[in-house]
This record gives sequence, structure tokens and C-alpha cells, in this order.
Amino acid sequence: MNSIPTYEPEHPLGENSIAVKLSETSPELIYDFFQSRAAGLQNFTIIGDEYLEFVPIPEAPNFFVRSFRQLSFLFWQTFRAEGFVEAGQVAVAEKAPENPTGESFDFFCQERVKNQVIFEGKEIQVLYPDNPITPHHFLFATKEHRKDFKETTKEEFVELMELVKKVSSRFEGERIILCKAGIDAGQTVPHFHLHFIVSQDPYWPRLRVFCNILFGFLTPRLRGAPLDNRVEHYRAELKKDE
Ligand SMILES: [Zn+2]
Repeated sequence: MNSIPTYEPEHPLGENSIAVKLSETSPELIYDFFQSRAAGLQNFTIIGDEYLEFVPIPEAPNFFVRSFRQLSFLFWQTFRAEGFVEAGQVAVAEKAPENPTGESFDFFCQERVKNQVIFEGKEIQVLYPDNPITPHHFLFATKEHRKDFKETTKEEFVELMELVKKVSSRFEGERIILCKAGIDAGQTVPHFHLHFIVSQDPYWPRLRVFCNILFGFLTPRLRGAPLDNRVEHYRAELKKDE
């Protein structure tokens, strides 16, 4: 059995929140570790950048509690002082994905999603959203239908991390990786996807992301030529280093 170093956030985003350091642990082991934390959980969020934090989200009894909790999660994610302390080695066993729940008719399984693909990997595709929070906002989704992280395979997760790194290397700025599972964590589309947001705003980048998540619905979605142009731009940008 392998063991990996883990970290405790100084200001955790939830109870039993635990983090790994991307630069020192392989994606294979991060996958096994997060899968073991996700077992039996309906709702959780994976968030961070260099330190990737796994946050279990408690089930909410109703809409109001759920909304309030999501709001306070966003608030703390934006304003907390980030710090992590070593929490020791944790043993990690090989973990198989949960059985996929089958096809569903979500955005990522539709034919028109191809218009927004800016990079296609073997298992993962990178998309440009029609409601970007910042200009450099990307979605990484599995090509196969997977409901959430628990259904993803290790191959998918490893490629996901490679592609995040690849895209990350092309843009300067503050980065946020965000991936939600379950309605109480705020997952709105039932198909595994990860947000990768780079903010070039030198001041308050997280605040800006926070405001955009809260009030983003007020800004019109990109359609037609403006969306196509962005997609073309980022397709070309990602081709550059090949
Ligand atoms: Zn799907």
C-alpha cells in the first residue's frame, strides 16, 4: 500500500477537509485518495490550486439551508487566509471507480458541445464555457458520461491533471480549480466537469470570481460569433506548443 503526505487547511472549508500538494503527489495517488474520501459521500467539493482540498459537504434539509451554505462556502473560499499545515502520511489503497449510472441528456452529452471544445484528449475534453467568469475560464469534462468524480476512472483523472497543467502553463495569473459533486455542493450539471479559472486581475481575483459566481446570471451568455471567436482563439492558443 502507498502512503501520501496530507495537509490540514488552517481555515478548513468544511468538516474533515483535507488537502494534498499537487507538486509532490502523483495524480494516480491523488485519485485513489480522493476516491477513498468520496466513498459513501453524496456531496463534496474539490477546490484549490497547488494545494488541492477535498471538502465533504453535508446534506442540506431544504433549499434555503443549501443556498445559505453554498453562499458561505463561496464567501470563506474567497476571504479566508490560505494556509496548510502538514497532517502526516495517509495510507492509500487502489480504488476502482463507482459503476457509471448510464447516459443522461446533459449539456456535455449533447452534439453541440463540440462547438465549444478547444482541446480534445483521449478521455478528457477541454471546453470554453458560454458564461465565462473570467476570459481564461475552462471546463474539463470526461468524454464518456460520468455523473461525478466517483464514476471517473484513474486514466481519466490522470489525463485531467495533465491537461490542467498544460492549460495552466499557458496563462499567467491567479488560478482556481473547482469541482463539485452533488446538489448540496452546488453541482448543477450531472456530468463530471472541473472548472479551471485563471484571473489576471492583480487585485482581489478571488473576490471577482466570487462576485461573478453570485451575479454571473445577470450577464448575458455568449452566443454565435462572440463565442465562436473565443473558442477559435483558445484552440489556436493551445495548439501553439505542439
Ligand atoms: Zn453526460
